[in-house]
Amino acid sequence: MLFNTHSHVDTAHQFADDRDEVLARAREMGVSQLMVIGFERALLPVTLAFAEQRDWVWAAVGIHPTSALEWGPEAEAELRQAALHSRVKALGEVGLDYYWKDRAPFDVQRDVFRKQIRLARELGLPLVIHNRDAHEDVVRILEEERADEVGGIMHCFSGDWKMAERCLALNFYIGIGGTVTYKNNPVGREVAQRLPLDRIVLETDDPYLAPVPHRGKRNEPGYVRIVAEFLAELRGTTLEDIAAATTANARRALGLDG
Ligand SMILES: [Zn+2]
Ligand SMILES: [Zn+2]
Repeated sequence: MLFNTHSHVDTAHQFADDRDEVLARAREMGVSQLMVIGFERALLPVTLAFAEQRDWVWAAVGIHPTSALEWGPEAEAELRQAALHSRVKALGEVGLDYYWKDRAPFDVQRDVFRKQIRLARELGLPLVIHNRDAHEDVVRILEEERADEVGGIMHCFSGDWKMAERCLALNFYIGIGGTVTYKNNPVGREVAQRLPLDRIVLETDDPYLAPVPHRGKRNEPGYVRIVAEFLAELRGTTLEDIAAATTANARRALGLDG
């Protein structure tokens, strides 16, 4: 039984033709719980409705850094309202993305990131953090804004072991996905090997970042099983062990056990 903590199956156009089949396949591959992740204002209602219709699906809502220019009083009011929905268990994905240079200025991203951390603290919701090429600033802002009070998940973690330690100290869980299987990612494997088992959660970030042997093709939520199998092999343990631990971790990270 696997908990996939990061999927875009609810909104991605890549699933327009076969969304139900993809979900059925995920169930067959052992996914018992799934979190779908909001990222822009217009799609938040879709994410909420998707989770509402399925008792095994949870939602996170937030404004992605590349959509940071959407931020304003109305967006904040909508996000605040969405965050109160009973299926919403985290605020995200929020963070910094310094890879896409033409989408939102970095200073705007940093400002909107800080505001959403403050909102998460106010609402008592854990955070789902997106970080691309912005390691130092992400960790510094999490520290400055006292994000450790709510913790959450560093999704698709791409830092080194030193950064992982800082994130663990901030009460964050580390999201491991398809990139751990990539040949050119020895640092990711080192981190995945060294992490305490009780701080790892699994994800796919579908439709992106498919694990080997599907790299470069459409990713889907069921492929979290491939990540779990890879991690079991890497850490010299069993799939059952990884599944049990990461599912318990995800439930703890998201406050699902009360
Ligand atoms: Zn992301
Ligand atoms: Zn994502």
